[in-house]
Amino acid sequence: MERFRLTSVSGYCDSCLGRIFSGVSTGLTNRQRGQILRKGLEILLREDLSFRGTCTICGGLMDDIDRYSEMILEKLEGYQFSTFKIGSTFWEELLKHEKNIHTTLGVESETLKKEFNREVGKVVSLSRNATFEPSSPEMDVLVDTRYDSVSIRPKSVYVYGVYRKRVRGIPQTRWIHDPGNGETVESIIGEPLRNMLDGRKYYLHGAGREDVDVRMLGNGREFVIEISEPKRRDVDLKLLRTEVNRSGKVWIAKLRSCDRDTVVRVKNSRHDKRYRVVVASESNIDRKRFQEAMDSIIAKDIYQRTPLRVSHRRADLIRVRHIRDPKILSLKGKRARIELTAEAGTYIKELISGDSGRTKPSLTSEYGDNLRVSSLDVIWIYR
Ligand SMILES: [Zn+2]
Repeated sequence: MERFRLTSVSGYCDSCLGRIFSGVSTGLTNRQRGQILRKGLEILLREDLSFRGTCTICGGLMDDIDRYSEMILEKLEGYQFSTFKIGSTFWEELLKHEKNIHTTLGVESETLKKEFNREVGKVVSLSRNATFEPSSPEMDVLVDTRYDSVSIRPKSVYVYGVYRKRVRGIPQTRWIHDPGNGETVESIIGEPLRNMLDGRKYYLHGAGREDVDVRMLGNGREFVIEISEPKRRDVDLKLLRTEVNRSGKVWIAKLRSCDRDTVVRVKNSRHDKRYRVVVASESNIDRKRFQEAMDSIIAKDIYQRTPLRVSHRRADLIRVRHIRDPKILSLKGKRARIELTAEAGTYIKELISGDSGRTKPSLTSEYGDNLRVSSLDVIWIYR
């Protein structure tokens, strides 16, 4: 460990000299304290201890605060935020050297990093009328003094709501490997909000998803729409609802601003759902046998092996699910319209068809003839 010599203070800028003794006196800035100390030492030692060259503690950074503040303000231009945080990176040698001095002198002092962040933070706070907020700020500012660069990370804006999908043929989101650029529930809600906030991207976090050919009706499905890197943060919920609902395809309601926590809550929610199903058979459906098949299926554990149609993206496993409150709405010729309530995570199409024996029992196995889903709607989510 290097020795601390009083004469080495000529290599420290006023701020860094004052900061070494920041634990000793209060009510002064580090710079003021440094100036007083330097004068005192000069008198005591009868020696010129004026600061010369580049500060060996901060490498000149404390004199660069204004320039860094300018760089930050420039980056922040055009972004709305009311809370922020400053983070900074320094060369490791600088921080080590400072720590050595503190250890040698046995003082508990403020660090270079802390003062730097505080000083540029003051400028940001005053110029942008924003509050320093370390835990979850709307704007994260990162200064890398090693490479003289500033980057900013605006926090995403999140809006919670429920959606109904009133038409078939629209997927909830687009798969990453799907090159198509058609409409999705995500794009119908996300586009207008992204435009409103001048954001970069949008992400829909749904409480589960329905197949592309399934409508989502009734009380709707919970979702959170996320807009990344927004320039504006004030969401006009009413305008968003109006714009989305005008699509005629997706209808949204119960909108409110929320945070990342809600995404987790929504994504982890598991709810029973009620479905309306049009079941199709190859020949005329026998009402008595069909009713018996419906009655029989509610009493049983239904074993569902991951369906072939989703096996490329889901683990192959067997789940046990239950069905309740089945009801025949109408039955005519080769078609039956029914309603039933299924536990969260039940594959309905396979519950009807049997998926070549991968779902057992199924309505097909209980009825005795091949049945399949002709159309499917979610009509209620129990939450
Ligand atoms: Zn310095």
